[in-house]
Amino acid sequence: MAKKQFKAESKRLLDLMIHSIYSNREIFLRELVSNASDAIDKLCYRSLTDEGVGLSRGDFEIRITPDREGRTLTVSDNGVGMDKKSLEENLGTIARSGSLQFKQDIAGQEGADDTDIIGQFGVGFYSAFIVSDKVTVISRAYGEETGYKWQSSGADGYTIAECERSAPGTDVIMHLKPDTEDEQFGEFLEEYRLRQLVKKYSDYIRWPIKMLCHKTRPVEKPEGEEADDQAPAYESYEEDETLNSMVPIWHKPKGEVGEEDYAAFYKEKFGDYQDPLKSIRVSAEGLTASYEALLFIPARTPYNYYSADYEKGLQLYSSGVLIMEKCADLLPEHFRFVQGVVDSQDISLNISREMLQQDRQVRTIAQSLEKKIKRELSKLMEEDREKYEAFFAQFGLQLKYGVVGEYGAHKDLLADLLLFYSSTEGKPVTLKEYVSRMKEGQEHIYYACADSVEKAANLPQTEYVRDKGWEVLYLTDEVDEFVMQVLHEQDGHELKSVSDADTVSEEEKKAAEEETKAHGELLDFLKEALKDKVSDVRISPKLGSHPVSLTSEGGVTLEMEKYFAQMKM
Ligand code: ADP
Ligand code: MG
Repeated sequence: MAKKQFKAESKRLLDLMIHSIYSNREIFLRELVSNASDAIDKLCYRSLTDEGVGLSRGDFEIRITPDREGRTLTVSDNGVGMDKKSLEENLGTIARSGSLQFKQDIAGQEGADDTDIIGQFGVGFYSAFIVSDKVTVISRAYGEETGYKWQSSGADGYTIAECERSAPGTDVIMHLKPDTEDEQFGEFLEEYRLRQLVKKYSDYIRWPIKMLCHKTRPVEKPEGEEADDQAPAYESYEEDETLNSMVPIWHKPKGEVGEEDYAAFYKEKFGDYQDPLKSIRVSAEGLTASYEALLFIPARTPYNYYSADYEKGLQLYSSGVLIMEKCADLLPEHFRFVQGVVDSQDISLNISREMLQQDRQVRTIAQSLEKKIKRELSKLMEEDREKYEAFFAQFGLQLKYGVVGEYGAHKDLLADLLLFYSSTEGKPVTLKEYVSRMKEGQEHIYYACADSVEKAANLPQTEYVRDKGWEVLYLTDEVDEFVMQVLHEQDGHELKSVSDADTVSEEEKKAAEEETKAHGELLDFLKEALKDKVSDVRISPKLGSHPVSLTSEGGVTLEMEKYFAQMKM
């Protein structure tokens, strides 16, 4: 039987494809700029071996031209261009990438490492149809005398005709869709919007992206004319502007970038008005993934940090193109306060680019970043304790949540980063520091939980331990007690609450028991009077100067009981 062909409404299929791949229509500019950059890379690569190119590195440029009257937006480049055949093959075939082919062809050859080809899926070009109802491409291939005009209104097909172009390169002319009540396409003709999109997605494309921009300046008064009080007159003029920074700050040699530069970058990029507490620059080469990163620890907890609004993650770039604004998988929960950017050529992208393939490279980078952040925090603790304490005051709670979260899986990583207020030092200390000061005969590490340092210090049980000359850690965060339970020990010394019975010696215990027997009647009376409120009344060896002490029995301390009661556990 003869096989029948499937029929598809090709226009609708293209629409479907475009809209399901791209969640965000503004990315069309990123895609066309990336193609222009690839085309320049190709010609530049060619110029290494072909003197006929006649252009040097400084001559290459990408140009964006909005035309409000004609309602078109044009992206031009003076790159390698396309001849008739490659227009048909590359633009006429969905999912065909001439750039991927190019990358494979030159792999291993001299100069290949110096290219930075972005294209690989062969669908980016079609994103022009998200915003246009017609696209015209005028291109002249390097080495050809004539140009060609490719034109299409979507998947109905395309036409190709010869045309003039004075030099090799390509213009992609988008005839923008009309504005409707729901959708405005005219915004893509506005200078500020184009500037914004280039900054957002294509800031680190390594070729200049230029646009003729409208500006105003005060009119200069002819010499000798009287200055008057009237507002100065302005005149408007046009000037070419390069919209992108081209070289990312994390690619600049370390010696050329100062703390102030990093701080300025951080404030602009992440919308903070304060300098970061610390910036961390990472450059890593590995087997599965090489990457560069620039990380920041904010000076303050963002106002929405402990709410559902706060989104953790790092900005992810690949070959200078923004792929994802907040890549959450790059940061573990316990370091979710870290801001920054990661740039790697090695990550595998999904055709949408917004969606990463959940892969090994991202995991490898995340693990390496986690270690780096830990190392930098430890270093800060050693080298600038005051600054570390300021950091801990802001984000210490997050580290503590990190210790108790995920069944304590991260406790070893985080334990040395924790600080607790010390009775003897009068300031926050680490568990290691506590251990280094432990007295002869002291076996355990002691802590007392309360709402405040004062209250913890005034507990009878605290006084009892302190009277032995031992240091006590005053814990005031609700989560602290869980942290202690999860950590369990430090350098072989158990972490114990001051209310733990173990603190009492055998003789003290015996003495208290005898006292309890001797005052049986009084205790019975108290038990009867408080019968709904307490389970037992005893004479305690740990009263110190206090008349009474409340304590709980079993693994749960009073503070924890309060916590459970609050959480209705
Ligand atoms: P990709 O960039 O992933 O290869 P695209 O759909 O964006 O896919 O582009 C398809 C192909 O069309 C590119 O690989 C390239 O060969 C060609 N192309 C697109 N834009 C240009 C351009 N401005 N100059 C030269 N060739 C281009
Ligand atoms: Mg592309």
